[in-house]
Amino acid sequence: MSLHLFNSLTRRVEAFQPADPARTTMYVCGPTVYNYVHIGNARGPVVFGVLADLLRRRFGTLAYARNITDVDDKINAAASEAGVPIGDITGRYARAYREDMAALGVPPPDLEPEATAHIGPIISMIERLVESGHAYVAEGHALFSVASFDRYGALSRRDPDDMLAGARVDVAPYKRDPGDFVLWKPSTGDLPGWDSPWGRGRPGWHIECSAMAAAHLGETIDIHAGGVDLQFPHHENEIAQSECAHGGRPFARFWLHNGMLNFGGAKMSKSLGNIEKVHDLVRAHPPEALRHALLSAHYRQPLDWSDGLIEQSVRTLDRLYGTLRDLGDAPAVPAIPAALDAALDDDLNTPQALAEIARIAGEARKATSPDERSRLKSELLGAGIALGLLQQDPAAWFARGAGNQDDARIQALIDERIGAKQARDFARADAIRDRLAAEGILLEDTPQGVRWKRGLSH
Ligand SMILES: [Zn+2]
Repeated sequence: MSLHLFNSLTRRVEAFQPADPARTTMYVCGPTVYNYVHIGNARGPVVFGVLADLLRRRFGTLAYARNITDVDDKINAAASEAGVPIGDITGRYARAYREDMAALGVPPPDLEPEATAHIGPIISMIERLVESGHAYVAEGHALFSVASFDRYGALSRRDPDDMLAGARVDVAPYKRDPGDFVLWKPSTGDLPGWDSPWGRGRPGWHIECSAMAAAHLGETIDIHAGGVDLQFPHHENEIAQSECAHGGRPFARFWLHNGMLNFGGAKMSKSLGNIEKVHDLVRAHPPEALRHALLSAHYRQPLDWSDGLIEQSVRTLDRLYGTLRDLGDAPAVPAIPAALDAALDDDLNTPQALAEIARIAGEARKATSPDERSRLKSELLGAGIALGLLQQDPAAWFARGAGNQDDARIQALIDERIGAKQARDFARADAIRDRLAAEGILLEDTPQGVRWKRGLSH
């Protein structure tokens, strides 16, 4: 079996081969760095990081770019609210993003282009679009003319009315068509801006991905991936810009979209306020358990995110690390089992891959002969490599109940419990208290606030 991926463009599972066997290319839309990222925004980097490793194993080479959006109105707003320069905000949150992804076991991409370092290529791409009649200039703005591209909407398969509803833009008077989108906008005052043929301004969000993908990976890339929430309008606009600027050549051969996280049945949305930031989660839980939880459902399906899911992942990893600890004396060279890669070849079927890991571990627990124990340990560690799991020393995994890092985790849980009580979510507050009690952590309300101490471990 060869690698097969569901291509959102054709709505079919297709065999994947790079167009150029010497260089496989992948672009994943990265974060806008104005705040800590939501756990929902970690699913793509985790899943497509597993894919990146698989592509390297399958094809030998990979150029994987994941961008940093460091110019955006949300960044401007965060900087002005905090009264600090914009670079302080983008620097701080880009750093936090890299730390949070590292905590989740996401290896850095090969390329991490930043929008502000690509203003030249962005301006020349817009110039090409204006010259070829796909874009126009009005009131200091450059706008893409959606009517000039007859395949617009092909990826998301929306009719024009839906597209307008989804565009989430106030129809500005300078737009010829309500669906037209901004490539360049004017910057006044102390807003970040660069000189351009259309005056001092800054790029729109969509154009940066088109320009950076072309600059680093070429005009046609093998795989473009991101959250399904980006399919429209962001990815649709990227296709329009890139294909019109490149004489109609396809922008991406395969489009992959990961599903959203659900919180108690409510669709993940920053506007709903049910924010769960990676930065806090990796302090409150073993980060490897969060990674396991993100891989527990197929990437295209929605994933119901809950504390129960995280607890379940902790228990699963307890069992697997327990098995590895029991196999401690068996010599082993990690080797990825064929069945594991077969599961990933099947459109990144990570639930199947995790089931395979459970099967290997079950066999290992029954194995008695030294050869068999060594073989199964090699398979278990190898399977872990393919998913970015089980790479710690079992002692390190089980020692998570000790040390300063654990103090921080306990404090984060206590803080979360205080927040839950303030939000009158008493079920959650009780669940946290019970969980801490199960670890032998006793809480005490004092006039100075909540204190905690380690009691007798159960
Ligand atoms: Zn993008």
